Amino acid sequence: MSRRSKIYEGKAKILYEGPEPGTLIQYFKDDATAFNAQKRATLQGKGVLNNVISEHVFTQLDAIGIPTHFLRRLSMREQLVRAVEIIPVEVVVRNVAAGSICKRLGLEEGTALPRAIVEYYYKDDALGDPMISEEHITAFGWAQDFELDEIIHMALRVNDFLCGMFAAIGIRLVDFKLEFGRFYTEEHMQIVLADEISPDGCRLWDMKTNEKLDKDRFRRDMGGEIEAYQEVARRLGVLPSADIRDIADGDGRKKRKV
Ligand code: UDP
Repeated sequence: MSRRSKIYEGKAKILYEGPEPGTLIQYFKDDATAFNAQKRATLQGKGVLNNVISEHVFTQLDAIGIPTHFLRRLSMREQLVRAVEIIPVEVVVRNVAAGSICKRLGLEEGTALPRAIVEYYYKDDALGDPMISEEHITAFGWAQDFELDEIIHMALRVNDFLCGMFAAIGIRLVDFKLEFGRFYTEEHMQIVLADEISPDGCRLWDMKTNEKLDKDRFRRDMGGEIEAYQEVARRLGVLPSADIRDIADGDGRKKRKV
């Protein structure tokens, strides 16, 4: 990996220059952060699980006509994606109250929302990703009106599809975060789904037991993060057969089993 030039390093992923112009390699790290990176840890195997879970979800979304940046998985920790211009807005879709909406509106965790609710947060770590409205997005030019219309439409379609996909494996999709980008060809520009969809950015509860199968286990010091992510991968039918804790990390070193 070190021979490739690094374009950007985020909290959980690294972007490297891709093999062809207009492509990037998205590398999934084992690093976990929460509360605007005030809490950090390494969860061995998380990158592998998020890579295969996100590959599966993006492939399924592509099959129903949602355009995405995903091209193909390259290895246990890498995927080839289209280079896109990221729109600096995190789009959150909620079906059930959890996390920040509970604090903000005084709702009890687990309350079903009257309908799916879309929220926006400005992607800025220094500001702690503040919540914003559609007005901020268009007034500050982060996205134009027609782009925002497409984003909302796509976010709700993704929600409908993923609610069904997870329900089929006994999981409630409580909420999740999406990111979008602009993909330019010579003739036109297309809004595409970017980033990843994995238990790092979704709340996933077992439908029978309400057990949390997502990053809240890390945020709340519950433990069992990897087992929970593995359970999601297993139910989706994408759990790698190799011991994920033994798959090489970013430096090509083998990680010890824990
Ligand atoms: N989320 C995310 N990245 C962020 C903030 C939130 O992926 O920077 C996801 C989070 O995992 C959850 C959803 O977006 O599935 C809604 O998060 P919420 O606003 O409740 O914030 P949190 O409780 O994570 O602070």
